[in-house]
Amino acid sequence: MYIKCDNCRQIDATGYRAGFTTANDFHDALTMLAQLETTERLSYLGDYLYRCNQCQAHWDLSVPDQAYRGYLRRTSLTTQKIEQRLTAMRPTK
Ligand SMILES: [Zn+2]
Repeated sequence: MYIKCDNCRQIDATGYRAGFTTANDFHDALTMLAQLETTERLSYLGDYLYRCNQCQAHWDLSVPDQAYRGYLRRTSLTTQKIEQRLTAMRPTK
């Protein structure tokens, strides 16, 4: 996926698409996300979605757990699709 936004390019350059190798990697990713212009938007099933304030692209942060390495990568989901998924997962009263 072509990245045209400088903000997103910085995230992409860190290369966590295939997972975090160490706990420090994960910590570094969180620090980087905090520094960049992103909005912590939504949390679901242990994942976090960050939205770039410059280009509105979404980044999907999957939290590592034991042997699972998680990842940080751009999602092709649109805001609309994300809202639909969240609505579907929300418990009905
Ligand atoms: Zn961006």
